[in-house]
Amino acid sequence: MANTYNPYENMLQVLEQAAGTLGLAKDDYEALKYPERELKVSIPVRMDDGSIKVFEGYRVQHSSARGPCKGGLRFHPKVDIDEVKALAAWMSLKCAVANIPYGGAKGAVKIDPRSVSKGELERITRRFTVQIMPIIGPQVDIPAPDVGSNAEMMAWVMDTYSMFEGHAVPGVVTGKPLEVGGSEGRGAATGRGIMLAARQLMRRLGKELAGQRVAVQGMGNVGATTALILAEEGCKIMAVADVSGGLKTDKPEGLNMPAIYKHCYEDRKFLDTYEEEGTVRCSGNDVLTADVDLLVPAALENQLTAANAADVKAPCIVEGANGPTTVEADEIFAKMGKYVVPDILANSGGVVVSYFEWVQNNEGLYWTEEEVNAKLAESMSRAFDEVWNMAEKHNSTLRLGANMIALSRLVAARKIRGFFP
Ligand code: GLU
Repeated sequence: MANTYNPYENMLQVLEQAAGTLGLAKDDYEALKYPERELKVSIPVRMDDGSIKVFEGYRVQHSSARGPCKGGLRFHPKVDIDEVKALAAWMSLKCAVANIPYGGAKGAVKIDPRSVSKGELERITRRFTVQIMPIIGPQVDIPAPDVGSNAEMMAWVMDTYSMFEGHAVPGVVTGKPLEVGGSEGRGAATGRGIMLAARQLMRRLGKELAGQRVAVQGMGNVGATTALILAEEGCKIMAVADVSGGLKTDKPEGLNMPAIYKHCYEDRKFLDTYEEEGTVRCSGNDVLTADVDLLVPAALENQLTAANAADVKAPCIVEGANGPTTVEADEIFAKMGKYVVPDILANSGGVVVSYFEWVQNNEGLYWTEEEVNAKLAESMSRAFDEVWNMAEKHNSTLRLGANMIALSRLVAARKIRGFFP
C-alpha cells in the first residue's frame, strides 16, 4: 500500500469534525486551517573533517491568537514541512486544552542527531538558532525540546540568542538545564503528565492505576520517563519498544524498568543490546498489539493505523507521542469501545511545565520540584475533567472533546481580538 498519510490532513480532518460538532460557522475557524508563518532555512556547517555540509531546517508558527507561539525543536532525518505544520497546529490545540496563554509552533532540523559529533551538533543547533532568530523571542515564539533534542541543546539556543541580545535571555527557550534557568520537574514533566492522565482515566473507569499492565512504544525522554514513573506507581511494564525492536515478558512483576531506563535513556543505547532474564524479543508492532490494560504510544506519528488498529488489545490508550493515531485507526478504536486519551491532553505536561519555566524566568523567582509537580497535577486534572465532560456532553470520543475545547478557546480569542486590519 502506498503511504499516503499526511499528518497535516489528519489534523485538518479532526479540526473539521470538532468545528462541525460545535456548530461553528466556517468563518470562525477558517484562519486556523493555515499556519500563520512558515520559515524554511538552510544551515551550512563546517564538519569535523573540514568540509561544509548544508542541513535543512524549519520553524512553523501556527497560531499566536492566545499568546506567544510555543513548541519544540525536532531533530530527525525524516521530518518534512507537512509534519512540522501538523505538529505546530497540535501545539496551538494543546496549549488551548491546557489553558496556558500560548499559541503553537514547531521547528525541525532534518538530521539524525546521533550521526554527527557533539561539536557538529552544537554548531548545527547554534547556526539554526541564528537562522530562525528573526521570528523567535521570549514574547514571540519560544522553542523547547522535542524528538532528537535535549536540555543541553536548549542551553545552546539560549546562549546563541543571548549573545546577540548582549545579556542572558533565559525565557527565549524552555526545557533548559537547571543551571541556566531551567525548571525543576521539566525533564520528567511529559512522562509525569501522561501518568496523571492515565490515573484520571482509570479513576473514571473505577480502577486503580497500580497493578495495570502496560506496553510502551518509544524509549526517548517521553517513553522511558513515562514507563519509569508508571512502574514507580505500581504498574507492570510488560512490553517496551524503540527503533531497534521490542521486548516483552510474562513475569508477573513486569520488566525491570529502572534498568531499561538507564540503558536506553541515560546511556543512550538501543533496546536490542539490553539483556534481562525472562524476556523475549519481539517486533515494535507486537508491543503495540500486546495483551495489556494500557498502551502508551510514545514515539512518532502514524503508528496506530488502519493496518494494525483492529489488532490492538489494550482497552485504554494514552498518547505520549504527538499524532500516533490516524483518523481511520481512531474510528476503529471508537467502534471497539476503547478509551483513547488524545495527545493534546495526555502529553501536555511537557508544555505546561515549559510554561511554568517561562513564568519563573520572567519573574526571576524559582519554585521547588514539589511546587511544580503540584501545579502540574492541578492543571492536568482540570484539563482532563473538562475534556471528559465535553466528550460526555456530545457523546463523543475524548479526542473530539479535547479538540472542541481547544477550538472554542482559539476561536473565542480570535473573535474578541478581532481581525486585523
Ligand atoms: N515538544 C513538546 C511537545 O510536543 C514540548 C513543547 C514545549 O514545551 O514547548 O509538547
